[in-house]
Amino acid sequence: MYRAKTFWISFSNAALDWIYPPQCALCTHIGQPPVCGVCLSEMRPLPPLSEPTADDVLSFRLSAFEYEGRAAQAVRRLKYSRATSLAAFMADAVKTMACETDMADGRIVVPVPIHWRRRCARGFNQAELLCQAFPAQTIQKKLLIRTRPTPSQAGLNADERRRNLTGAFKVLSSLAGQRVLLVDDVLTTGHTGRECARALIEAGAIDVGLVTFAAEL
Ligand SMILES: [Zn+2]
Repeated sequence: MYRAKTFWISFSNAALDWIYPPQCALCTHIGQPPVCGVCLSEMRPLPPLSEPTADDVLSFRLSAFEYEGRAAQAVRRLKYSRATSLAAFMADAVKTMACETDMADGRIVVPVPIHWRRRCARGFNQAELLCQAFPAQTIQKKLLIRTRPTPSQAGLNADERRRNLTGAFKVLSSLAGQRVLLVDDVLTTGHTGRECARALIEAGAIDVGLVTFAAEL
């Protein structure tokens, strides 16, 4: 009975692969999903540590890939085309970067929040999906919230970007003595990560670092 069931599952999977061949989520060529070897080889890995500036509230910033080409496409496809098949691959890259540098040790993992209205429209928060490779007991999805919708940062100058995000984040419980690893999909100007870190430190966090899938250089 067990062997018949196993055979039927294998047969069904093979039939499905024949009808719908596995495709790369980025170039759509038939191959190993979600990202084929060619697309992966086109992503530019970043060195393990970036130096924070002297006045930075973030103690470190880590990113797996440069935000260009296939890596930027992965960020956009997850967020705007809801290609959630990419999430596990991207989450693994985030966790590997944090763990290779020992930066996840003893930290709670907090996704950068999006406003609830945007979450309803999109159906998910991409930063939460990128936390999924960390141990479940370390992830705190409801600790940090975005209190108001913030317009896109694109097209704003540095002052406008800072004002746009000031006071936009709130922590819902005390973090006395805690160390935090913030997770996001992409690091551009760093204003979002810094504003989140300010809110977390005000709530008692003693150290906040950021890891992202990609970073704009
Ligand atoms: Zn591909």
